[in-house]
Amino acid sequence: MTIKTPITIAYGDGIGPEIMAATMKILTAAHAPLAPETIEIGEKLYLEGFTSGIPDTAWESLKRTKVLLKGPITTPQGGGYKSLNVTLRKTLGLFANVRPCVSYPPFVPTHHPHMNLVIVRENEEGTYSGIEHQQTDEVYQCLKLVTRPGCERVIHYAFEYARKFNRKKVTCLTKDNIMKMTDGIFHQVFNEIAREYPDIKTEHFIIDIGTALVAAEPERFDVIITSNLYGDIISDVAAQIAGSVGLAGSANVGNHVAMFEAIHGSAPDIAGKKIANPSGLINASIQMLIHINQPETAMLIENAWLKTLEEGIHTADIYSKEHSKKKVNTDEFADAVVAHLGQKPASFKPIEYRNDIRAKIECYGERKKTLSKKELVGVDIFIDNPHYAPEELGKKLTKMHPHLQLVVITSRGLKVWPDCMVEAPYAHHCSCRFQATTDIKNLQPITHHHIIELLQQFEQLSLDVIKTENLYTFDGKLGFSLAQGQ
Ligand code: NAD
Repeated sequence: MTIKTPITIAYGDGIGPEIMAATMKILTAAHAPLAPETIEIGEKLYLEGFTSGIPDTAWESLKRTKVLLKGPITTPQGGGYKSLNVTLRKTLGLFANVRPCVSYPPFVPTHHPHMNLVIVRENEEGTYSGIEHQQTDEVYQCLKLVTRPGCERVIHYAFEYARKFNRKKVTCLTKDNIMKMTDGIFHQVFNEIAREYPDIKTEHFIIDIGTALVAAEPERFDVIITSNLYGDIISDVAAQIAGSVGLAGSANVGNHVAMFEAIHGSAPDIAGKKIANPSGLINASIQMLIHINQPETAMLIENAWLKTLEEGIHTADIYSKEHSKKKVNTDEFADAVVAHLGQKPASFKPIEYRNDIRAKIECYGERKKTLSKKELVGVDIFIDNPHYAPEELGKKLTKMHPHLQLVVITSRGLKVWPDCMVEAPYAHHCSCRFQATTDIKNLQPITHHHIIELLQQFEQLSLDVIKTENLYTFDGKLGFSLAQGQ
């Protein structure tokens, strides 16, 4: 008897139930050995008071099956509702978002007929940590946190993915010419891990030119690895130019749990009309089948789906007089895929997954074994400063402490004291840097007690300290950026 793999399915909102029913019909007809458990998540749950749109019973199912096939969710308008996707990613440790972007010419119009790339996006860190503060009446902050283990996990995953799917090149995209530490560590870890995969070509672009190249010459890319925000943007650019926004699936993968979904939303404008294209969710289910070690069924469905596409059996969203033969609704499309099970496409290259595709990818970020020598060498004290011009502030803060010297005052990273070169400095939000010496090449250790004493001095001067940021060296290397103009 075949053992059935338990999976959790969520029909979702809008067109979700229609496209999930079509996908399940195909999975059943292909005899995918699955034991699905259905959970309810999404709009109804939000409106019942679950702020993340997911009840406890759904978590229990997910923790049991470790696989979720999910229809799109409508996030209700208005404040107080948390993104279900972000909650799932963070709670379940889904560190890699994997989005294949493939063009299907001539059936789906595209300027890039040879495009076939995969974007692996870091899914948990960066500016998407959601740590934001309003610090003054006029200044808002979003914290970008990047960890070495986080970079290691997802970059390692991208290389393992390339190997598993017989892809030849991994391209890294960062902005490390500007963000030398957060994006710098991503690039550095990429270089380190690349050395472990001599069989795979590697390259790096700054994200801006990288995005331009993806838009202009997507066929030159194979696997792209990038961080959260850039990956979010570039995945939509790539899906759009492939012409396949309605056809693409994506996977959110962790070491223990994975979630699969279409990249489109719940399409409320066509919900209930039974005309939605189920292909995005079908493609997501193909990614799921490979993940749960059922590549034969994945191959069967993918070839039948390609055959249906090239036969010109199309839903309304991709229907054209030139390339379509029959306009079908959601159910009829699923029936056509079922009818083509066992057939291979003639115009598209038939899909063939090698046996080693079964290898499970697990990536843990624990490569760095030794801790660096960390030394406290200064502090940045950020203040809300509605009253004083930089020169006046500089005068107030010099000779405040017997051991610490005021080195520089900056505003949004730009030096405003001493020797302000800025024509109209914005000094309402200032960072005041203190070190034992002003010489950056000869930094001396300071103590937390020095910082506390300094903060007491700020309080006596009635200065509103909004935050402090300690300055460290790691094995003698600066762990902080210098101000522009310092
Ligand atoms: P959308 O992707 O739902 O719709 C954009 C356009 O594409 C619409 O005209 C729609 O009719 C069409 N479309 C989308 N999927 C289609 C399909 N399978 N077949 C045919 N046409 C299709 O984007 P939106 O309108 O910006 O968002 C609607 C809702 O979906 C919002 O509440 C949004 O928050 C949510 N959303 C959810 C997810 C998710 O759950 N992963 C992703 C994106 C958006």
